[in-house]
Amino acid sequence: MNSVASVDSTTIWNDCLAIIKPEVDEHSFETWVKRIIPLRADGEVLTIQVPSQFFYEWLEEHYVPVLKKAVHHVLGKGGRLEYSVVVDSGNKQSPPVMVNYPNGNGPNRNGSVQPVNGSDVYSPFSFRALNPQTVNSRLNPNYTFDNFIEGDCNRLARSAGLAVSKKPGVTSFNPLMLYGGVGVGKTHLVQAIGNEIKKSLPHKIVLYVDQNDFTSQFLNALQNNKMQDFQNFYLQVDLLILDDVQFLAGREKTQEIFFHIFNQLHQSGKQIIMTSDCPPRDMKGFQERLLSRFKWGLTADLQEPDFETKLAIINKKMQSDGIDIPKEVAEYLAYSVDTNLRDMEGVLNSLLFHATLLKKEIDLELAKEVLKNIVKEIQTDVSVDFIQKTVADYFKVELEAMKGKVKKREIVIPRQTAMYFCKRFTQLTLALIGDNFGGRDHSTVIHALESVEDMMKTDANFKNSIEELTKKFKSRISA
Ligand code: ADP
Ligand code: MG
Repeated sequence: MNSVASVDSTTIWNDCLAIIKPEVDEHSFETWVKRIIPLRADGEVLTIQVPSQFFYEWLEEHYVPVLKKAVHHVLGKGGRLEYSVVVDSGNKQSPPVMVNYPNGNGPNRNGSVQPVNGSDVYSPFSFRALNPQTVNSRLNPNYTFDNFIEGDCNRLARSAGLAVSKKPGVTSFNPLMLYGGVGVGKTHLVQAIGNEIKKSLPHKIVLYVDQNDFTSQFLNALQNNKMQDFQNFYLQVDLLILDDVQFLAGREKTQEIFFHIFNQLHQSGKQIIMTSDCPPRDMKGFQERLLSRFKWGLTADLQEPDFETKLAIINKKMQSDGIDIPKEVAEYLAYSVDTNLRDMEGVLNSLLFHATLLKKEIDLELAKEVLKNIVKEIQTDVSVDFIQKTVADYFKVELEAMKGKVKKREIVIPRQTAMYFCKRFTQLTLALIGDNFGGRDHSTVIHALESVEDMMKTDANFKNSIEELTKKFKSRISA
């Protein structure tokens, strides 16, 4: 570059800056405009250097009108901008690698950027290359496919996850968007995918971030003028896992940058996995273009686990900790903890603590005690206790008598009725229902259910009572 040209371009650029400055806010000016370096002026073409591909796209999307205005003003109506984008800042031995674009075209949408009369070596983001062996993926090795129990509640999500872990970026599940309520296993599953890829494809760079990480890194980078490092880092990742993406809601700037990172990664065949607490169609506070990207690949939900899945999770966890847990205790827990699986973790850990450190035997008694002490807030909508109380009140009999062994008919009928509702409104097994009524066995419970059904057929009053009680329990469920 000869000095005359460089003086020229600097002067021209300074004139442009005078026009641009009043048009953009100070922060944007510092972050974006100030980092543009005028390279050369050639007739009506001013070439400016920008630090990255991302930076270039950002300018194209946000600052084209004001840049155009400035260039037209300074260079005349035919004035044009060309960008020179640094794709490799080089080192002492090798000079920086650049690609050039004329302004207004944008990067081409079907893949990589085409160099325009510049270098023919396009080496995107080789800048400060990350080492897959040393980069901290932020994965918890305890979350694997092995200990992720498959059930109806998560089958689609799990198999999509497996497919992605075998061929990241290659399947049409890109992005893979998993959604579901609290504690249904989203984090476990996406971490399992990450761990699997790290194991089978060790040359891939895997990165797990929760949204708070992303946001705080972003703000940090913005404040310290490290935007370039920030995006360069993300753009080198082969598998990006963004957990709980709903936290991006309403964060315009963070969404902007994520949008660009998303596009870049997606275009270069990198895998993106996201989780959210609701499906993209219900996500509020998101730019439409970002939401539409979320739907490009596969969206799969995880539901609250059913009884069998919970049971399997309990058994697996206890097994891996080398603890035997009686069937009835596992069933009791699977039934009782129906809020979410994180509460279940707490209960199981506490049971483990009692069993291993206090050397207590894990039985129903202990399980009930732990459940009571550890997760007070756990309440099923319709619990056995609630059913028993409601039925005893309704028939005006003593609760304790109804739960006990008294064989009088006026007690037996309420007892059988309560058993019937336990079967209808809880997931308790017959054996466990019997257990809650003075330790009766499952055949007694079956007999009770049959009696109630018979009486409903023959006794209109009784049928009416059952219907009234049913309403009480149902209103409790929908409340
Ligand atoms: P989310 O991210 O959806 O809120 P997590 O992934 O944190 O839920 O799951 C909560 C707990 O439940 C974790 O300890 C996780 O290991 C466990 N868990 C959830 N689903 C399963 C499953 N299918 N198999 C085994 N453990 C599971
Ligand atoms: Mg989670």
